[in-house]
Amino acid sequence: MRFDYVVVGAGLAGLTIAERIAGVLDKKVLIIEKRGHIGGTVYDSYNEEGVLIHNYGPHIFHTNDKEVYDYLSRFTKWNDFWHRVLSYVDGNLVPMPITVETVNKLYNLNLSSFEVEDFFKKYAVDIPEVKTSKDVVLCRVGEEIYHKFFENYTKKQWGLDPAEIDTSVISRIPIRTNRDTRYFADRYQGMPRHGYTKMCENMVKNPNIKLLLNTDYKEVIDELEYDALIYTGPTDYFYDYKYGKMAYRSIRFEFETFDCDSYQEAPVVNYPNDYDFTRITEFKKLTWQKHDKTTILKEFPNSDGEPYYPFPTAEYKEQFAKYRAEMEKETKVFFLGRLAEYRYYNMDAVVRSALDLFKEKLAK
Ligand SMILES: Cc1cc2nc3c(=O)[nH]c(=O)nc-3n(C[C@H](O)[C@H](O)[C@H](O)COP(=O)(O)OP(=O)(O)OC[C@H]3O[C@@H](n4cnc5c(N)ncnc54)[C@H](O)[C@@H]3O)c2cc1C
Repeated sequence: MRFDYVVVGAGLAGLTIAERIAGVLDKKVLIIEKRGHIGGTVYDSYNEEGVLIHNYGPHIFHTNDKEVYDYLSRFTKWNDFWHRVLSYVDGNLVPMPITVETVNKLYNLNLSSFEVEDFFKKYAVDIPEVKTSKDVVLCRVGEEIYHKFFENYTKKQWGLDPAEIDTSVISRIPIRTNRDTRYFADRYQGMPRHGYTKMCENMVKNPNIKLLLNTDYKEVIDELEYDALIYTGPTDYFYDYKYGKMAYRSIRFEFETFDCDSYQEAPVVNYPNDYDFTRITEFKKLTWQKHDKTTILKEFPNSDGEPYYPFPTAEYKEQFAKYRAEMEKETKVFFLGRLAEYRYYNMDAVVRSALDLFKEKLAK
């Protein structure tokens, strides 16, 4: 069978590139997806009780990229959702990321923004060369806040000490000296009004797009003719693990439904120091669904299972560089997305990268 393009993977990367090829170039695209649904990691669905859940963990859309926001807005309306997170520390629920409110509540103080800046400076450790995630926190806020909020959470999340992982991981979490308790400060934030899956379905409505679900691309690829392949699956698998398997951190998701309207005070509560799970999400507080029951999710990070987070260590970056050298030699294959590029991508960044690939390579 012949298509102009074959896309492997129906996550946001694959769907965006397929939508552009089909819509703008008016070309025939086949998307091959090994799961039984589209959306990849952003997939959401109604559980047995009828509560809308995010099957692969809570997803909050946030961006400063207007083009990406406008692009996705063609496929969904948004609820103006401003994400908030609390952290359970020393028996208190305090705002996360760390703000004036966090310090005041934790230490029973009444500091102003300026005073909190001095408070952080007083405890900050002088580190001449910031090399690790631990250094990032110590040089901003010092030992005590590092231990209370970051050290154990990172150990649970990664199975590694923050001193072993590069600066990028903790640098993603802001530390603020103002009273802004929103989790993200981006200009555009929201939750697709009818869910991510609905948004994704709208992206592939073009009759130029055919979908093959429940199929690993290797089962069918030799039977297909196409001009180019866009690959969004794991690159080590594409190359039959010739440079070894890339390591990922995975998560075991444990959902529970309760016969009550509300379970916790915020959409997400982090547990840096207590329990084996890292955080609890209550979906109704993300989706604004009205329902007399509520579903929560506990996340237990582990090293086996579905690949979620690439490992942020020098060793794995070096290993992936070998794959990258192979990728650069390909002429008919484009690699796109979090698995193919072995990097952490937020949703907006993955859509941006697909739009750029389309403009720079495919539309020309
Ligand atoms: C727990 C978690 C929470 C997150 N929360 C947020 C958030 O709040 N905000 C945010 O902006 N981002 C968040 N993200 C990031 C977001 O999920 C990603 O940016 C986005 O989903 C990446 O899309 P993708 O298409 O690159 O990858 P994926 O969504 O993983 O899609 C890849 C697809 O390829 C398919 N595939 C793989 N191998 C094959 C094969 N051999 N044959 C056929 N198909 C194959 C997979 O089944 C999958 O459907 C989160 C990620 C995780 C893991």
